[in-house]
Amino acid sequence: MRREKVLIVDDEPDLLDLIDFNLTRNGFLTSSALDGHEAVAKLESFEPDIMVLDLMLPGLDGWEVCRQLKQKTRDIPVIMLTAKGMPEDKVKGFEFGADEYITKPFNVKELIIRVENLLDKKRGKEVNEFLIHEMANNLYVIGSYSEMLSEEGASADKEKQATYLNQIIRHAAYASELISGMGTLMKIESGEFSMAQDRCDVVEIAESVAKSYKAVAAQKNVGINIAVDRSAPQVNANRAALRQVFANLIGNAVKYSGEHATVEVCVLQALDGVLAVVKDNGWGIPAAQLPHIFKKGYRADNVATNTCGSGLGLYISKTLLDKMGAAITVESVEGEGSTFAVFFGAKPFNEASDGDPCA
Ligand code: ADP
Repeated sequence: MRREKVLIVDDEPDLLDLIDFNLTRNGFLTSSALDGHEAVAKLESFEPDIMVLDLMLPGLDGWEVCRQLKQKTRDIPVIMLTAKGMPEDKVKGFEFGADEYITKPFNVKELIIRVENLLDKKRGKEVNEFLIHEMANNLYVIGSYSEMLSEEGASADKEKQATYLNQIIRHAAYASELISGMGTLMKIESGEFSMAQDRCDVVEIAESVAKSYKAVAAQKNVGINIAVDRSAPQVNANRAALRQVFANLIGNAVKYSGEHATVEVCVLQALDGVLAVVKDNGWGIPAAQLPHIFKKGYRADNVATNTCGSGLGLYISKTLLDKMGAAITVESVEGEGSTFAVFFGAKPFNEASDGDPCA
């Protein structure tokens, strides 16, 4: 996914600069307008994902800019940012289509949080649309190749049959990855994901997932090196969730690396806990997009056009790790590679699962 674009409209240049500076620092791509007519023109030329809009503007006022925009599309959220703080002003703002209404003086952090929340909501809707579209597409491709196999049957040469089968297997695997991602997501979002925790051996889990990716990696001449400290302590976690996290991190490291890259999977004892690291020397993540990488549905623009993906894996991994009290961090340099680190602090084990009748 490309960097998200914010159009800032305000007739006070100093305020514009302040908002612009803070949004840019938080990874957004910005453009600004000093009056209503310029704002309308920038909506066309800049195509923002969201607009921060002052109301008392020269020429066309903010209400009118908002009204015109909302007549055309409801897909661009509008945050009205204004000195007009009377209750009737707010009502008017919402009547004209504002999604948020903030009064000046305001806190820049609050503005950024509201921008992010509205974009999360918008992305959530786009993710659902994307998943439905991808599922339909994949089933169509699977159906088409199956039909070709069945029609050409024995008359098709072996090479052709293998190609059709290969396509069916590839698209079925992706469809099943999408469905399981959607399932996990729905359970997480409705609070139903069962997170029973027990003693888990991170070394054993990471190692077995890494081994299971060796064949896929070998197909593109990517090597997977595994280095583990077998004396690392067990942690209190959910085994299925841990497998999912390592599958996501190792799968990504392979997917987002070119031929002959190397993926390192290490697990070691660190401080009072366990540190697991998945490192690759692949494509890396553009610096400006790194702060957004754990958001639902987010894909960096250096991979989005040439690889399949939903942008759900890291969001799900982080959510699962949060629930287990573990932390995940990333360091990445575009063109050099990425390092994802997961840290499990020492936590008391769930005594009930150890069979302690007094627990
Ligand atoms: P998906 O892989 O389905 O797009 P993820 O949530 O797993 O979804 O990853 C989100 C995005 O983070 C990817 O689209 C990619 O832009 C970036 N990314 C994740 N892991 C890596 C990696 N090891 N190297 C480069 N980019 C990565």
